[in-house]
Amino acid sequence: MTEYVNHWINNTTVEGNSDRTAPVYNPATGKVTKEVRLGSVDDVNAAVAAAKAAQHGWAETSLAKRQAILFNYRNLLVERREALAAILTSEHGKVISDALGEIARGIEVVEYVTGAPELLKGQYTENASTGVDVYTSREPVGIVGIISPFNFPAMVPLWFFPVAIAAGNTVVLKPSEKDPSAVNFLAELFAEAGLPEGVLNVVHGDKVAVDTILEHEDISAISFVGSTPIARYIYENASKAGKRVQAFGGAKNHMLVLPDADLDLVADSAVNAGFGSAGERCMAISVLVAVGPVADALIPKITERMKALKVGDGTRGCDMGPLITREHRDKVASYLDIAEADGATVVVDGRGQEVDGEADGFWLSPTLIDNVSTDSKVYQDEIFGPVLSIVRVETFNEGIELINASPYGNGTAIFTNDGGAAREFQRNVTVGMVGINVPIPVPVAYHSFGGWKASHFGDARAYGPEGLAFFTRTKAVTRRWLDPSHGGINLGFPQHD
Ligand code: NAD
Repeated sequence: MTEYVNHWINNTTVEGNSDRTAPVYNPATGKVTKEVRLGSVDDVNAAVAAAKAAQHGWAETSLAKRQAILFNYRNLLVERREALAAILTSEHGKVISDALGEIARGIEVVEYVTGAPELLKGQYTENASTGVDVYTSREPVGIVGIISPFNFPAMVPLWFFPVAIAAGNTVVLKPSEKDPSAVNFLAELFAEAGLPEGVLNVVHGDKVAVDTILEHEDISAISFVGSTPIARYIYENASKAGKRVQAFGGAKNHMLVLPDADLDLVADSAVNAGFGSAGERCMAISVLVAVGPVADALIPKITERMKALKVGDGTRGCDMGPLITREHRDKVASYLDIAEADGATVVVDGRGQEVDGEADGFWLSPTLIDNVSTDSKVYQDEIFGPVLSIVRVETFNEGIELINASPYGNGTAIFTNDGGAAREFQRNVTVGMVGINVPIPVPVAYHSFGGWKASHFGDARAYGPEGLAFFTRTKAVTRRWLDPSHGGINLGFPQHD
């Protein structure tokens, strides 16, 4: 019997009225395990109607009650994280330890917004003018649409919906159709924590559901995460429809290695950040920019570590799992042919390597390519797989110029023991998140996340103070309680006295 992934509306599973579905694979076996429903316009409308019916009541729910539910939710997430990790591994393929890491980083955001009463405090000025007080309060924007990618099926949704909900909004969430079950688990757990009906609704689907969310007049704000072309599309269309929008796009993250760096730390970091989650992370390192003699000293250290990696089914204690789909695996593998044709050196070829998993899984083992030219598509494209390229440069400045010439600006890292060089890098690099001897500088929940250039469209970044600002609008109130000495008629512009 086929198992279906249904929508979640008003704290209940809903089949909806669309007869379209898409297969959900276990990437480690290559087998279809479920069919996800692809929501229709009516299905999105039903979710928005539920969110609309719940919105006023939720915004009126006291901060103390919201906070209590968020605390319950945080505790349930911690308690059930292993069950959630198993879902991530079965549909995304990432290994269990990595899935648990993703969940921990998502829980961090819930922990951050348990402080909502403190975070949502407004500002107050007494006696701005004689007898006049001014205060600014934060109010929810209303109904929020969230559209998320396949690569972090739990963490990326958790970057947004707990923040939106803590601020008094209600949500319609459209997860990736490739690994949709994690979000249902997250939504059911929130209901168990006490979240009222209609506050968090999930509609599964594809472009039909996304376009309906984008155009829906009752939705005030859109948070999107995915590839750059779709992020641009979302940004332009949501803006045109008069909505607030933050759209996070793709990446090509560089790691600049100076000759004075600790090369063992660099080799560990390059392997961890290049091949963790099979390179399907928006903050993965995909280009190692080696200054001067660094590359020759580093390659043996990196290859030695790559040889020790165990690739296979994520439930079997491996280091790295499969890619998300067969098509994506083949596309990533095709960059090896491009590399060879473009004159690069394939140092470690991930095709056809032994893996601890079924033959039909979507396998591609870690791959290292040296002497990659910036003219090659291997350098220019976001490959989004376990392929680490080495680009050789002569000087530190050449390295920074190369990174700044990239159309993307999500994350970057410098490895050096020279504080002056690190400072110069940090100040001059045109990238939104910078690591200094740290390869995947995803900020903690109380600093906001976001890249620059083609990695982020819109103003506000995710979670942290900017996330809360995105999901709230401020109201400035100027107040005077009448006293016997009010000033009478005066048509001039109000001034302060
Ligand atoms: P994707 O752009 O294919 O899909 C993202 C979402 O958009 C999904 O929910 C999908 O259903 C929807 N979508 C896809 N095509 C659409 C279309 N034509 N019209 C409307 N909606 C559409 O991205 P993906 O493959 O799921 O995720 C990987 C990408 O996400 C990578 O580019 C990665 O760098 C990026 N990403 C970025 C960040 C970040 O914070 N910048 C974080 C995670 C992932």
